[in-house]
Amino acid sequence: MTEGYRGVWVFVEQKKGEFLPVGLQLLGKGREIADRLGEKLSALVLGRDVKDKAKALIGYGADEVLVVDQPKLEDYQTDLYAHVVTELVQKERPSVFLLGATYNGRDLAPTVAGRLETGLSSDCTRLEIDEEGRLVQVVPAFRGMASILCPDRRPQMATIRPGVFRLPAPDESRTGTVREVQVDLETVENRAELVELYLQEPEGKPLEEAETVVAGGAGIGDLEGWKLIEDLAQVLGAAVGATRPPLDEGWAREDQMIGQSGKTVRPDLYIGIGISGETQHVVGIEDAKVVVAINNDPGAPIFKVADYGIVADYRKVVPVLIERFKKLKNTG
Ligand SMILES: Cc1cc2nc3c(=O)[nH]c(=O)nc-3n(C[C@H](O)[C@H](O)[C@H](O)COP(=O)(O)OP(=O)(O)OC[C@H]3O[C@@H](n4cnc5c(N)ncnc54)[C@H](O)[C@@H]3O)c2cc1C
Repeated sequence: MTEGYRGVWVFVEQKKGEFLPVGLQLLGKGREIADRLGEKLSALVLGRDVKDKAKALIGYGADEVLVVDQPKLEDYQTDLYAHVVTELVQKERPSVFLLGATYNGRDLAPTVAGRLETGLSSDCTRLEIDEEGRLVQVVPAFRGMASILCPDRRPQMATIRPGVFRLPAPDESRTGTVREVQVDLETVENRAELVELYLQEPEGKPLEEAETVVAGGAGIGDLEGWKLIEDLAQVLGAAVGATRPPLDEGWAREDQMIGQSGKTVRPDLYIGIGISGETQHVVGIEDAKVVVAINNDPGAPIFKVADYGIVADYRKVVPVLIERFKKLKNTG
């Protein structure tokens, strides 16, 4: 079931006609994979009035942009999008198909994979091509990393979270084609209809883009302690991140979680406080340039990945850091 499949596809999701950065990041990675395989890279875009904008994706690495531009595809709707994508994959037969692990991508990818009866690895943190030209999909699992292959079915499908791959610099001199494709949606049953869409503006700079991240874990202990984390972040102009327990406790918001089921960050400086360093968290900070850990247990695994470690009760250390940084700021 692998014969006749060629090419690398990237689903580039749009919201209100704007491409989400994860799609562009995947085009950068897709380009590498396509070059390694000696195959074509195609971007797939669904939406309304997106045809003209689609050309820009060539600059991000696509050889070809497939566009399905229809009013019904303005916003993501599972049945309509899954129908279009499944039909196109069946017709065009790409060998590799990458999608962003956004809310919509996490819905679309398994729906399409199920219909195509192929495999899907969710939330990959690395993608490679092995010697036989197969896609190696690396995901955090079993307290380590697992390399997954889809040897017998095609396409080889993977979702990747925003921020895992770098945004490529657009090259306007690149050439490629935009191909508009028609798909008949009249007979498709849309079982869950989108009635209205509210877009909530994120608070402050997104974690994935922050140059400094101060993250707190279960060791913070209570809401009063969490305030210290926020104060330290504020004085450093940093974004606040968290492990899972602060979410469960209600100290942090869901969009602040870093790790396997949260976000991937790549700051210049990451300060992890009261965090043990379980794999599920650490996979989200692999690309941080400098990691500082504050933990009162010298055996905490976070110290294995930290560049600088402070073994201490954070309640003693963090107020001192806040005062010092404030002073430094005041003296310029
Ligand atoms: C499928 C799955 C997905 C998951 N996804 C994620 C994810 O995306 N992100 C994530 O973070 N977790 C995730 N988890 C949870 C993960 O396995 C860990 O449970 C979690 O990361 C632990 O968080 P923690 O380090 O804050 O807590 P703990 O492991 O409880 O560590 C707390 C640390 O604080 C230290 N400490 C205690 N008191 C102090 C003090 N006063 N001063 C300084 N240090 C102190 C302790 O020594 C300890 O090392 C996932 C789990 C599963 C099963």
